[in-house]
Amino acid sequence: MYKAFLIKYGEIGVKGKNRYLFEDALVRQIRFALKDVEGDFAVTKENGRIYATAKSDFDYDEAVEALQRVFGIVGICPVVQIEDKGFDDLANEVIKYFGEAYKDIYEEKEITFKVNARRARKNYPLNSMEINMDIGERLLDAYPKLKVDVHKPDVLIQIEVRSMINIYSIEIPGAKGMPIGTAGKAMLLLSGGIDSPVAGYMIAKRGVSIEATYFHAPPYTSERAKQKVVDLARLVSRYSGPITLNVVQFTDIQLAIYEKCPHDELTIIMRRYMMKIAQDLAKQSGCMGLITGESIGQVASQTIQSLYCTNEVCTMPVFRPVIGFDKQEIIDLSEKIGTYETSIQPFEDCCTIFVAKHPVTKPNLNVIKKDEKLLDDCIEELYKKAIDTVERIVIQ
Ligand code: ATP
Ligand code: MG
Repeated sequence: MYKAFLIKYGEIGVKGKNRYLFEDALVRQIRFALKDVEGDFAVTKENGRIYATAKSDFDYDEAVEALQRVFGIVGICPVVQIEDKGFDDLANEVIKYFGEAYKDIYEEKEITFKVNARRARKNYPLNSMEINMDIGERLLDAYPKLKVDVHKPDVLIQIEVRSMINIYSIEIPGAKGMPIGTAGKAMLLLSGGIDSPVAGYMIAKRGVSIEATYFHAPPYTSERAKQKVVDLARLVSRYSGPITLNVVQFTDIQLAIYEKCPHDELTIIMRRYMMKIAQDLAKQSGCMGLITGESIGQVASQTIQSLYCTNEVCTMPVFRPVIGFDKQEIIDLSEKIGTYETSIQPFEDCCTIFVAKHPVTKPNLNVIKKDEKLLDDCIEELYKKAIDTVERIVIQ
């Protein structure tokens, strides 16, 4: 019955020139999302409205699911679009629409409705009030069990008289946020865990394009662990669009830290190097921030004191969108976005191999910096090698 979707988007804060950037980015992202859906679609922008119109048979559920992953969309309205062939024709189309959309519910229980017409062109022979009244009456004639409720109707039938006439009543919630491509780019430190994919999702939701870095430590971490990160990046890219995943060979740096530095400081020093390398890669590709899945107090390396020490190597902003979340709240989100099942696959990441029995929970920055000097004779070379041997995997 539906051949098109009317896309509703939030407009607060997107005025003037920004509005065009916002709309163009949204059109681009909708096209990208519908690319893999069965069927051909035209995505068009008309007078402050965006439509996705099917040009062939298409899979309705798949299309809705794809649209629900596009940031910037507030609501997805399956719409019947008709040409203006006079008022009687419109009324008949609305009666037919109601029958098809609500047949089952109508048979089962009492439903209330209201008609809400709007005219974008004022040359239509009836005004909005008259359309509401007249079509309301004809609906009551056609469906005698219906009742009018102007305050809280079960079904609000929208009629929009534009160059075409739109008839719709259903609004499926969208992902909200801002379209990808409207807010620059940031580098996600993506591990195989639960938290970092969620963090990437949350920042992408604000319109930020995502690039990712994964620290791989073969043979301590397996190919399968790396594949898991690739799989997670792919799941995040369903929302964020294409992600370039930088795989850093981290083994030599980790071993050097392990050999030379006090074991209770391993994690902090290692994390400082992760941040530094990620930041260098971020600068190379035009990212203006780092993203991590850290949450205060979750583990020893995420106490305020630890975060203070790792953050000290960063000059660009570090976005930690789950910083105030409990683990369960992060898990709930990861289930919602579909990364949880992959995240809990049991493949070790490089942090679990090199963790000390009793890591410091209140590291002192001066002590950390002093102990880091123990790496002076080798770190420059190892650091350069790590940057030079980065493997780049483009995920779309
Ligand atoms: P996650 O569930 O995201 O793995 P975590 O609870 O295991 O997080 P940590 O291991 O302390 O926490 O890591 C904190 C953050 O550091 C992660 O959310 C991620 O952003 C980054 N990180 C940790 N390990 C790696 C890695 N091997 N590669 C890339 N980033 C990493
Ligand atoms: Mg982890």
